[in-house]
Amino acid sequence: MDETILVVNCGSSSIKLALFDSNHHKKASALAERLNQSDASARISGDQAPVQLPENACHEQALQALVQAFEDRNLMGGKPVSIGHRVVHGGESFREAVLIDDKAVKAIETCAALAPLHNPVNLIGIQATRKLFPDCPQVAVFDTAFHQTLPPKAYLYALPERYYRDWGVRRYGFHGTSHYFMVLETARRLNKTPATTSIISAHLGNGCSITAIEDGISKDTSMGLTPLEGLVMGTRSGDVDPGLFDYLASRGVNASQAHRVLNQESGLLGLSGQTNDMRSLCELADHGHEPSELAIDVFCYRLAKYFGAMMASLNRLDALVFTGGIGENSARIRAQTIQHLSLLGIGLDADLNAHHGQFSEGHIGDADSRFPVLVIPTDEELVIAREASRLANAN
Ligand code: AMP
Repeated sequence: MDETILVVNCGSSSIKLALFDSNHHKKASALAERLNQSDASARISGDQAPVQLPENACHEQALQALVQAFEDRNLMGGKPVSIGHRVVHGGESFREAVLIDDKAVKAIETCAALAPLHNPVNLIGIQATRKLFPDCPQVAVFDTAFHQTLPPKAYLYALPERYYRDWGVRRYGFHGTSHYFMVLETARRLNKTPATTSIISAHLGNGCSITAIEDGISKDTSMGLTPLEGLVMGTRSGDVDPGLFDYLASRGVNASQAHRVLNQESGLLGLSGQTNDMRSLCELADHGHEPSELAIDVFCYRLAKYFGAMMASLNRLDALVFTGGIGENSARIRAQTIQHLSLLGIGLDADLNAHHGQFSEGHIGDADSRFPVLVIPTDEELVIAREASRLANAN
C-alpha cells in the first residue's frame, strides 16, 4: 500500500481533510461542516452516505470520525508518513513552514491574539492529530509566511511606531499558500523559473486578496493585520475609512458590533442584501436585481483599482493571474474587472475568457494585451502536502 500524507485544514466551524500519495496525487478528501451545532455533518467526497457524527460534534470528534472513515474504506494505507496543517497566522515568528514541536505550538498560541477565530481551531486540529498519530511528523504551513518578504514600506501602517514595536500592528497578508502556488504554476506555464517570475495574483473566493510578486517574492498584498482589509469579499467589507468607527459609535454601534458587521454582514452580502455567493449574485443580476448588479460593480471596480495599485510595487510583470472560486469560474467578473484596465493596455480574448482558458494553458488575454492574463486553479492542499513531506523527509 502506498504511503499517505494527511492534510488538515480546520476552519472556525469546519474541517477539510485530504489524503495524498507519495507522488503528491490526491487520493481522497473529506469535509465536516457546521461543527458545534445540532446539524453538524461530515462526508467523504464521492460517498453518498454521510459519516456519522455525535450530536453537536466538535472539531476533535469530527476529525476522529473522518480519519476512522478513511481507515474503514482502506484509503489511509496505514498511518500517515506526515501530516500538514494549514495555520492562518504565523505573525513574524514564521517565515516558512515548520515541523511542529511544543515550541512551535507555543508560538502559534501567541499568534492567536492576531487571529482569534482561526489559530485556536488550527491548534485543536494539531493537538487532535498529535494524539491520534503521536509518532508522525507534523508540519504547520502558514497563510502569512509567504508575505514575510514584504518590505517595511509595504507592511507598515502610518501609525505611531510603538504600535508596531509593542503590539505587532502591521500588514501580514493572507492566502500566502495560494499566491505561492500561483507563482509556481505561472512559471511552469510561461516556461520560466519561479525565482524569475513576476505576477499580480488575485485570489477571489469567499475571502479575496491580491498580491504583487516579484521574482517569486511577495512584495505587497491587500490583506493586512487581519484578513478584513483590501478587496470586497463575500461578507467582508474590505477597505473602509477608519473614521467610520467613531461615526458608528456616535450612532450607538459599539466596536464589537462594528467588527461583526464588517466581517459577517458586509461585502457582497451587505451590498446586495441577498447573498454572499457570487454565482447566485450573477444570476440575480441577470434577472434585473439592481442591488446585485451594483454589488458586482463595486467588487470589480475595487479589484481593478488594486490591480493598478499593485503595479506600483513591481519593476517587471509577466502576468496577471486569476484564481479562487470566483477567479477560476466567473468569466463575467474577470471581463468586467479587466475592462477597467484598458488604459494600461490590458485586454481579454472573449472566447478564451468564456472557456476559462481551458484550451490555452489558462491564457485569456487578447493578442494585443500588454501583459498575459491567466486563469489558474489554486491547490493549497497540494502545497501543504508538499511542504509536509519535504520537512518530514529532511527530519
Ligand atoms: P471559494 O471560497 O474559493 O470556494 O469560492 C467561493 C466563491 O466562488 C463563491 O462566491 C461562489 O459563488 C464563487 N463561484 C464558484 N463558481 C462560480 C461561477 N461559475 N460563477 C461565479 N462565481 C462562482
